[in-house]
Amino acid sequence: MTNYDYDLFTIGAGSGGVRASRLAASYGARVGVAEEYRVGGTCVVRGCIPKKYLVYASEYGHNFEHAKGYGWSAENVSFDWTKLIENKDDEIDRLNGIYIRNLKNAGADIFQTRASLKDQHTVHLHAENRDVTAEKILIATGGYPWVDENVPGHELGITSNEAFHLEKLPKHVVVVGGGYIAIEFACIFKGLGCDVCLVYRGEDILRHFDTDVSVQVHTEMKRQGIRVITQTIFEKIEKLEGDEKRVHLSNGNHIDTGLVFWAVGRKAATTGLGLQKLGVKMGKSGEIKVDEFSRSSVENIFAVGDVTDRVNLTPVAIREGAAFAETFFNKNPVKMDYRFIPKAVFSQPPVGSVGYAEHEARHEFKNVDIYKTNFRSMKHVLTGSEERVMMKLVVDGDTDRVLGCHIVGEEAAEIIQCIAIAVKAGLKKKDFDDTVALHPTISEELVTMKEKFVPGI
Ligand code: NDP
Repeated sequence: MTNYDYDLFTIGAGSGGVRASRLAASYGARVGVAEEYRVGGTCVVRGCIPKKYLVYASEYGHNFEHAKGYGWSAENVSFDWTKLIENKDDEIDRLNGIYIRNLKNAGADIFQTRASLKDQHTVHLHAENRDVTAEKILIATGGYPWVDENVPGHELGITSNEAFHLEKLPKHVVVVGGGYIAIEFACIFKGLGCDVCLVYRGEDILRHFDTDVSVQVHTEMKRQGIRVITQTIFEKIEKLEGDEKRVHLSNGNHIDTGLVFWAVGRKAATTGLGLQKLGVKMGKSGEIKVDEFSRSSVENIFAVGDVTDRVNLTPVAIREGAAFAETFFNKNPVKMDYRFIPKAVFSQPPVGSVGYAEHEARHEFKNVDIYKTNFRSMKHVLTGSEERVMMKLVVDGDTDRVLGCHIVGEEAAEIIQCIAIAVKAGLKKKDFDDTVALHPTISEELVTMKEKFVPGI
């Protein structure tokens, strides 16, 4: 027992902070947690969970069309945005309640306030205007969507934070960016019936993914009628009548729209925490630099999750939080393993990806074999949709190990979670070949691809 008020004080009750706090408390630590917005953090309150509900809602937009090929008539269907947002909010309230209960049941004290560091062991709770002390401090404040303030009129646009609370659905949306959020929201708005235009500064959207993923998603977005403008940036945004805005583009054109949606990345939320004056080292975007045990450059200050900008995904933050608690409150040193983390983009159709992209594998391995296929799924033969599935295996030609798997198509995210087990376990292409196909499914193609892909053939 130390003389501090707490053994651990966590600032930020998102995925990483809550997991670390709950686990530390379960190991007997006296834990305090401060959260300025809502317990649950980005994932639960304005990220993964509400986003997935919008994705589900949006998929119905396509499903009503597809149903016709199966004999259903779905005429005069209508969509009520307000109802969707209300139902989504009810569920977020429920989850928020569960997170609060779980923390309290574990024995942690929750403070609904902004918090900052006064010194290495003292946390100032702003709403209560008082200080508490702690032996260890964990920063788990996550990130926030940034907008390009160099663009005149940038404030006329919204970010994903506001998208979850729009009062009404606009007729036309311009999304700027080519990453996860831009692609997911462009597809959400399109499925809900908006006209959507995506403006991306580069050539290939989702450029951190395998090129075949990028090309396939681009093709599918265009097929649904999303206008994708590449190698273009915003020059300025101008206010027109009512809710309308005019976006002036670097290619000389302009677009009039009801909604401008910034999805140009997120930054670590470290401003105003008092870290700099304590000598906590941060990167150029404000992310906290930590070692493999999530320790910052100041001995008793730690950080997990997006605020460290390692791999910004909920399950990673959760594991980092758990590893921190295990290491420092259960005397069981655990390092997070960042290899072969499965990833999904909830575009429509979705992306599932694990391991090396082809270009990454070619950079690191001498001989790389590629197996890939591109086909129309059985389902869409009757719907009449031209939507296609792309599947690709990246294999080490010397050892036969499957290095990566990339899928764009129905249920890709669900499939990749299972394939990730095989890829992480180091299974070989022969193991895939030796597995009997499950027919008729989309994923059976993963064990029936026999021919190596030869470019140009
Ligand atoms: P991303 O980093 O995925 O994408 C940002 C995009 O914005 C890139 O296409 C980037 O271009 C572009 N961009 C950056 N700066 C500018 C600029 N000044 N002008 C125009 N375009 C610009 O960020 P997101 O905001 O989409 O997502 C943030 C993080 O959240 C992700 O990295 C991911 O970790 C997480 N996330 C995960 C999801 C999931 O797992 N399904 C869903 C949503 C978010 P360029 O490509 O050229 O750099």
